[in-house]
Amino acid sequence: MTELGKIERKNMKERSITGNSIAFIYYEIPDFYTCVFLIEKKTRIFVIDTFCGSVSMEPVLKHIAKVCPEKEVIVVNSHFHWDHVWGNVAFKDKTIIGHRFCHEDLLSNWEHQINNHGQYISGEVDIVLPSLTFDKSIFFPDDQIEIFHSPGHTRDCISVFDHDEGSLYVGDNVEEPIIYVGDPDIETYVATLNHYLSLSTRKIFSSHTLEITDKEIQRTIDYLIKIKSGIDVDLDTAYERRVHSENLAVLKSPTY
Ligand SMILES: [Zn+2]
Repeated sequence: MTELGKIERKNMKERSITGNSIAFIYYEIPDFYTCVFLIEKKTRIFVIDTFCGSVSMEPVLKHIAKVCPEKEVIVVNSHFHWDHVWGNVAFKDKTIIGHRFCHEDLLSNWEHQINNHGQYISGEVDIVLPSLTFDKSIFFPDDQIEIFHSPGHTRDCISVFDHDEGSLYVGDNVEEPIIYVGDPDIETYVATLNHYLSLSTRKIFSSHTLEITDKEIQRTIDYLIKIKSGIDVDLDTAYERRVHSENLAVLKSPTY
């Protein structure tokens, strides 16, 4: 094991979150932790996001090898941001599902993201793009897994709904204490969040807050409506105020 590998393991926790899923929670990035989710279904294993490189994916691969080596592994990229995709390199030979915009935006932002966040690379990183893209949704009937376009935080966001468990995985679309708005199309973002509220969910998971509820989704809708309408928002911490001002700057930028 490399020195880096040792550090990674110390900064990662594994937690069982439903009857069939595990969260690998990484603490290397300041201000927030980041989850990779593994859902074990009847015929496949779904890995949602890949964090920051080959080393960060070692515990995930180890778990799969130990518990269910015979099952097909499907990787899902919730969106193109670096902290969700750099570990794709560990799944070069697997199907990697992403929205067609994820393929496009990951490619066009590759160098920019490496230049800006390269200090968080863990092990090897290489351009590995989604190998299976879609527009609206993909459904795996035998595993009761639905993957659907849920634009908001970014235009390429996708969510995973496990119909058996009633578990919904929303990526970065909901996050406490404040979301990052990466796309100025607020109406679409609110529509996505209202769609989440319309689903029969038992548990909802987000990449940087682990478990959330309808209450946090509604709070996020209220925040988005406020910033769209130019209403002042009360914020408690310097971190929240910084993210909020970045969000306001995104609102002023042109849409794709
Ligand atoms: Zn993101």
